[in-house]
This record gives sequence, C-alpha cells and structure tokens, in this order.
Amino acid sequence: MQFVDLKKQQEGIREDIERRINTVLDHGKYIMGPEIAELEKQLADYVGVKHCISCSSGTDALLIPLMAWGIGPGDAVFTTPFTFIATAEVIQLLGATPVFVDIEEDTFNIDPVLLESAIQKVIEDKQLNPKCILPVDLFGLPANYSEIQKIADKYGIKVLEDGAQGFGGSIGDTKACSFGHAASTSFFPAKPLGCYGDGGAIFTNDPELAAVMDSIRVHGKGSDKYDNIRIGINGRMDTIQAAILLTKLNIFNNELDIRDQVAGKYRALLSPQYQVQAVPKDYRSAWAQFSIVTDDENHRKRLMSKLKDDGIPTAIYYPLPLHLQKAFSHLGYTQGDFSISESISQRIFSVPMHPYLTEEEIKRISDVLTK
Ligand SMILES: *Cc1c(COP(=O)(O)O)cnc(C)c1O
Repeated sequence: MQFVDLKKQQEGIREDIERRINTVLDHGKYIMGPEIAELEKQLADYVGVKHCISCSSGTDALLIPLMAWGIGPGDAVFTTPFTFIATAEVIQLLGATPVFVDIEEDTFNIDPVLLESAIQKVIEDKQLNPKCILPVDLFGLPANYSEIQKIADKYGIKVLEDGAQGFGGSIGDTKACSFGHAASTSFFPAKPLGCYGDGGAIFTNDPELAAVMDSIRVHGKGSDKYDNIRIGINGRMDTIQAAILLTKLNIFNNELDIRDQVAGKYRALLSPQYQVQAVPKDYRSAWAQFSIVTDDENHRKRLMSKLKDDGIPTAIYYPLPLHLQKAFSHLGYTQGDFSISESISQRIFSVPMHPYLTEEEIKRISDVLTK
C-alpha cells in the first residue's frame, strides 16, 4: 500500500503526459515555453483570480510575494507553528520576524482570536511593525479567512495564504488560493495537485503586485532580463512541469471528489473513536492528508507500529512545532508557549490518503485502528 499512490495515477494519464512532454521536446522551449502561459491561464480560471504566476516551488511561491511587499528586518509576519518549515523559513530568510500564533484544537489552523491578541501585543511592544498574516490551509482545509481578513483590514496588514496543501479546497463558492492579498501553492509531487519535480504558483487579483512578482521571478527583470530594476531570484517553473500539470489538472476535480469520499469513509469508520480534523460548515478540504489524533505519544507509537506490521505506511505531520525547532531558537520561544500545537504534534499522525485507495484498503486501515 502507498501513502500517496502516484504510480496508479500515472497509469491512467501516462499517454497524455508523454504526448505533452514530446511536444515540449519538439518545440524545445524548456524555459517559459507556451505551456507556462497556458497553465497560468487555466490555474487562474480554476481558482477564480485575475493573475497566476507559476514558479519553481511552493517555497518560492511564499518568498516572492513577501519580497514584492518589501518585507524585511523589523517586520513581523504572523503565522502558525504547526506547519512545514517553509512557511516560516521564508520570513526569516528575508530578515523579518516570524511571530507564531497557536492553532484551533479542532481545525489545526491558526486561531483568529489568538491572532488578534498577538498583533496587539506586537503593536504595544513597539519593537516590530506588523506587516503580514501568513495562514496555512493545513492538510487541505482552508483557514478561517473571513475572520482573518477582518483582522487584517482592522490593522491595515496583508494576508498571504499558504495554500501549498490547500489547492482545490474552498469556503462556500470561493476557492482556496484566492484568499488574502495573494496566495501561494505547491506542486511538489505528493501535494493534491503535483507535478514530477518541484513547482509552485502565486495567485492575486492585484495587477501591480502581479507585475512586480513576475519581475522578481526572473532576477528582477525590467523591459527584459538584462534590464534589472530590482533584486529578484531564479524562480521559474520548468516548461516540462507545466506540461505535466496541464494533464493532471484535467483529472483534478474528479480526484478531489474521490478524496472527499475517502475522507468520508475514514471519518465514518474512525471518528467515533478518534479525533479527526473538523471541517467547518461550507468548508471543503483538498485532503492533502488525513490525520488522526491519539491519546498520547505512546498510543501513537503503538498504532503506527501495528499499521506498519500490516504493511500500511503512516507519517507524522508535524513531529515538532516550529517554535521549538533549533532553526528558530534565536526567537526565544520555549516549551509551553503554544500548548495546542505542542499537544497535537505529540499525538497526531497521518494515514494513506489519495484518490486510488480501494474500499478494501480503507476498511483494512480502519480495522487495524479500531480493533
Ligand atoms: C509543501 C509545503 C510548502 C513548500 O512547498 P515546496 O513546493 O515543497 O517548496 C510550504 N508550505 C506548506 C504548508 C507545505 O505543505
């Protein structure tokens, strides 16, 4: 059994993938070839925003908008400690300060009430300028953007949605990766929409921001790439990856529906006994992960080893919250600062989640966990 079964997915689309890759080999435009513009148009339409800028990874998709806003030393960016390192890494990379805010116990996403207190505290302390909120759509579930946007508007700060796991999710009729002033996603192979290497995209409705991000993506280009009007990066997506994503986008909605069904079956079988991620009314998750909260670290260890004995792979997302990582030790956080993130990270683990899981496999996983 696979944790994410990219092989099974490939069986159904291999021919189309090969055809599209061959087209790229024929035209030879490996950098910024025609597939890039085609993909950006389709992604923007899918999400329902005006501009999509494809890029080299989900990490660069976070870095580029922060650079475009000039975020740097002395600036505070508010985010969750219960996420992948990249979310806070990009803040630090620019010399700005990540200010962590604990999560909600049921959704595992940033808590808007604690967020506002954290912003007020930064304002009172007068050491940092509050500049941006960077919520994460954890495991595919959009954060609480209606509350977050209200707070951002009240304090005049930006929102950057980390939709690396969230692409395909929604709140009501509004798709993930359209929240905030800009949104980022990742096409790392194991994400809900993955390519065959690294890739990412940024979304916004702001044409000026889009133009600056387009420039930063190619070394701060002006009228051409040898006219450099700002400091940028080499942040382009490969044409071949865009070709692969064009194929995968065709089956994505169907895959999302099946992920939803898989999650529904897991919930029905497991939720009487285990805490699983709460999906608020009108929210739809892209189900990047399906996670289970156990009683304690030992309980988790026992269950994971029982599953392993049965040939069922599992993973822990995330074993250590970011405020306790060595890379952020200079920020001065300690154990106990974010008790919900700490408690969940000690008890949570994820089971296989992908659209090619069979009924029998879901049943087998659930049986091991419930017996
Ligand atoms: C995967 C991920 C990223 C980084 O994406 P890459 O494409 O691997 O650079 C950022 N944030 C979150 C929440 C992620 O899960």
